[in-house]
Parts: sequence; C-alpha cells; structure tokens
Amino acid sequence: MKNIILVRYGEIILKGLNRPVFEEKLSSNIKKSIYSLGKVSIIRSQGRIFIEPHDEGYDFEAAVERLVKVFGIVSVSLVWKIDSEFETIKEYSLKMVREMMLTKPHSSFKVETKRGNKRFPMQSPEISREIGAHILSQIPSLRVDVNDPGFILYIEVREDTYIYSEKIPSNGGMPLGTNGKAMLLLSGGIDSPVAGWMMAKRGVEIEAVHFYSYPYTSERAKEKVIDLAKIMAGYCLRIKLHIVPFTEIQVQINDTCPEEQLTIIMRRAMMVISERLAAREGALALITGESMGQVASQTIQSLAVTNAAVKMPVFRPLIGMDKNEVIEIARRIGTFETSILPYEDCCTVFVAKHPKTRPQLQKVIELEDGLGLESLIDKAIEDTEVIEIKAPY
Ligand code: ATP
Ligand code: MG
Repeated sequence: MKNIILVRYGEIILKGLNRPVFEEKLSSNIKKSIYSLGKVSIIRSQGRIFIEPHDEGYDFEAAVERLVKVFGIVSVSLVWKIDSEFETIKEYSLKMVREMMLTKPHSSFKVETKRGNKRFPMQSPEISREIGAHILSQIPSLRVDVNDPGFILYIEVREDTYIYSEKIPSNGGMPLGTNGKAMLLLSGGIDSPVAGWMMAKRGVEIEAVHFYSYPYTSERAKEKVIDLAKIMAGYCLRIKLHIVPFTEIQVQINDTCPEEQLTIIMRRAMMVISERLAAREGALALITGESMGQVASQTIQSLAVTNAAVKMPVFRPLIGMDKNEVIEIARRIGTFETSILPYEDCCTVFVAKHPKTRPQLQKVIELEDGLGLESLIDKAIEDTEVIEIKAPY
C-alpha cells in the first residue's frame, strides 16, 4: 500500500481551452506549491493528477493545505494505492474504515465503486456489495445507508486500485498564468484583495500597486498591505508589489482643487499611474475592488469618470456584490482579519466630507489641466519601490 494524493480538475473548462497547455501549467503550479515539502512524482492520467511522494514521512497535511489553494484544482483526496486484487481491496477497505472511525465515528456508510479496468473480473455494483458486506460483518455498529450515508468509501479499480473516503474541495478556476497578467490596485481594505483573488482564480497572474502617503499614513499601514500581498501569494505563489509614494500628488490636489472634486481627481491619478506601471510590466488590464454604489466614488457617474482616465480594460469583479458577500470570501481566503486592522489608508486621510456623487468628466479634466500633475506622476513612478512577495512557504 502506498499513500498518495489524487487531484481532480474541471473537465468541462478544458473543452474551450488548449488542453495540454492547461494541464502542463497546472502540473507546474502544483510542483511549485509543494516543492519545499520533498521529492514527489507528479503523474497525469485520465484527466487527473496523482502525486506520489518519494520518501517516507511526507507531510500530507501540509501538501493538501497548499494544493487546495492552487487554482484549477476542484478537489483533492488522500488515497491508498493498492494492487487490483479483490482480497487486497477487501483488506484495505476495512482497514481504511477502521482508521477513519477512530477520528470521525459514523453510524452509516456506503461503498461507491468505479471500474476503469475492464479486465477486473467483478463489476462495480458487485464490488460495492461485497466490500460493504465485509465491512458490516466486521464492524457491527455500522449500517449501510445509500441515500444519506455518514461517509462514502470510494473504490476506483484501474491498473492499480485507489481507495479513499474524503474529497476535500478546492476553489476550481483556471491555472494561474493561463490568462495573462493584470495589475491590481491593492489598498489595505477588505475589497481589493478579494478582487485580485477572483481574477487570479480565473488564471490571471497578478501584480499589485499600492499608493501610500507617508507620513500621513504610517509605516504600519504599508506593512499591512505587504501582509495582505503575502496572504494572496499563498494562492498566486509570487506577487510583485509596487509601492508608489503618493504624498506629493495628494498634497498638490488637496491644495488646488475644490474639496468635492478631491476624491475623483485622486482616483484618476491612481489609475493613470497604475496603467503606466502595468504597461511597463506587460500587464494587460487593471483590477480594482470597486462595487457599484458602495461609496460616493463608486456611483456609476464616478466610475465612468474614473474609467475615462485610462485606456486599458479595468476589471471590477466585485461590481455586483454586496459587502457581506465580499466579506464572506475575504474570510474564506484568509485576508479578512488583516484587512480590518485599523491602519489608515491614503484615501481616508485626504478625504472630502461631501465628495461629488455625479462628477462631470469635462469639469474634472479642466481642473486637472491646471494642476501640473504630469511631472509629479513621473516622479512618483520613478520613486516607486518594488517588493517581490513570495508564498509564505
Ligand atoms: P478597499 O476595501 O479595497 O479599500 P473600498 O471599498 O475601501 O475598497 P475605496 O477606498 O474607494 O473603496 O477604493 C476603491 C478601490 O481603489 C480599491 O478597491 C482599490 O482597488 C483601489 N484603492 C484604493 N486605495 C488604494 C491605495 N491606497 N492603493 C492602491 N489601490 C487603492
Ligand atoms: Mg479602501
């Protein structure tokens, strides 16, 4: 018997794509994510991936924890690989159920068998029946319930036989790197990490840009963003984070513009800088955490005026979501606790009491013309610090 990991990925999404490219990228992302845990063989077979560690004492739990973060994977199982001999299947099925009952006692179960190996002398229903009966005869406290079983013992008879009792769900999506690269505007808030995660889930490689206004925002606020990028790197493996000094631009806007136009002009400046960094890095789009109507700068009029500052597509995956829906994802992906730490963002320091909810593009452009922001923007880009963030393992 050998302990291995079985990885399932979506068959359906493969159809529209170049399948080998997808599979190779997924394998290589898997390899990178578990690389530091020890040598393994990664074997692709019949639309699944098997991971076989070379050494005893492999940390399966740590591997699963990383694998469920690899986009493209639908679910993962810890599996026993055994010979396709009926007596062996019987022996190990009982053993697996016994081991499982020690940690998670159940009162009912069923056996589900798939037979890929047509040379095996028994058919699936017969295997399930026989194995089920054997387990019942040995563990009298269990009963069979085919409609609502406490657990399912899965038996897959192929060249070898695989048995397991748990499918650990992952996030699905597309393998990272199969859909180009985009630049995420990453604040310290709840929304933008979720927005970036959602695009990464669709295979988009993420770089991030953060605007900070030292000394109006603290060193700690910047560290918080680095921490958020680290959590995201658990899914994205690595994130290049661009930290843009934004103080001079904000002070200039603050000193010269009518208060109710501050926010929109500042947001447009952020977009312009992000687009230029994106172009420099070969990213094809911007991503923000904006959601329709959430605040004054996210009315449809404000979004239109913000959008008009750039030519690149701007993806706003949260646009139709409520805050509580975003929070639910933030909790699930592990960014929420960091996002709610109380450090100020540059948007909250230079905040207008009554920002315009229906800005007009023409008016905004006229105001910007007199600001001389161009050279300040050049300088901010020049002084941008780049940090390579790696997955926390
Ligand atoms: P978040 O929770 O992501 O901060 P929010 O609801 O607070 O979003 P805003 O502060 O108006 O909304 O920001 C809208 C979007 O603009 C953010 O989701 C993010 O993409 C971007 N953004 C805001 N502030 C910054 C910043 N300091 N650096 C980089 N991007 C920012
Ligand atoms: Mg914010």
